[in-house]
Amino acid sequence: MLKSRYRVYSEYLRNKHGCKVYKLPVNLPVTCPNRDGELGVGGCIFCGESGAGFEALPEMIPVKEQLERNMEYIGKKYNAKKFIAYFQNFSNTYMPPERFSHYLDQACMPGIVEVYISTRPDCISDRHLAEASDFVGRTGIEATFELGLQTVNYHTLSRLNRGHTLAEFIDSVLRVRNAGFGVCAHLILDLPWDNMADAVENAKVLSALGVQQVKLHSLYIVKGTLLARLYNEKSIRLVSVEEYARRVIAFLEHLSPDIVVQRLIGRAPEEETITANWDTSWWKVKEYIEEQMEALDTWQGKKFSYLGGKAVRKFCEE
Ligand code: SF4
Repeated sequence: MLKSRYRVYSEYLRNKHGCKVYKLPVNLPVTCPNRDGELGVGGCIFCGESGAGFEALPEMIPVKEQLERNMEYIGKKYNAKKFIAYFQNFSNTYMPPERFSHYLDQACMPGIVEVYISTRPDCISDRHLAEASDFVGRTGIEATFELGLQTVNYHTLSRLNRGHTLAEFIDSVLRVRNAGFGVCAHLILDLPWDNMADAVENAKVLSALGVQQVKLHSLYIVKGTLLARLYNEKSIRLVSVEEYARRVIAFLEHLSPDIVVQRLIGRAPEEETITANWDTSWWKVKEYIEEQMEALDTWQGKKFSYLGGKAVRKFCEE
């Protein structure tokens, strides 16, 4: 088997835990300040009614029960022993710190080795971090924060109606890292207003900030969203799969080799989207990108040489 040309998440987990580790989606009864009026009401222009949690159980079911049910199903199907509780949908820290702590505690059960908390960069206070530290100290279960960024291009962030800019992302990464937690950044590399330079800058900013993981998605058009309207009106054009692959490869070439890559492409619910992943299977796109990397003989970190005072390096070499 060929060696991976990028740092694959499943391999990272297997090395760390000694076996395959499975993510169990958890649906908390939460919303998002970009939807409930705190920052805005429409949400990000690509975000559908179900957010990102189309595979999760209903939010009314207690966290423990959601985990038990998913653990039983996945555990039996794959003979799985270790799991990550994935607080996936909407903004999972958009709540008082005490309530956040309560949900974390519910995830403390045999087999859970990590809690993975997806949220917005402007939804993490130092008090939320203190609750997470307390949880980790009491239980020994790790915690990682997944922060939606989508792009470092703050002009594009404004068009997406994200309700935050790059500064909030930088602030949250620094504070989450200082508190001792891992950070995973979520990016969409083919936003219609971004180009190759943005894809590369995404990699450079994440590398400079020292995030530990990254998750890439292509842009899919969810029914009923403002993005769907723009798409139907032909106000935006989606990039080709070949261009997406070029951007992913350039991104990986500039990415620190230490950063773990959770995925090169996301999965979208067919019934909720107008178009997604060029109407082909996500794994075919993934394989296509990997084949292109092979053909180009390139790899993650090949062009990671720009940090640490690049212009004065020649003066400092022994
Ligand atoms: S921040 Fe996340 S949950 Fe909120 S509107 Fe945007 S994509 Fe949806």
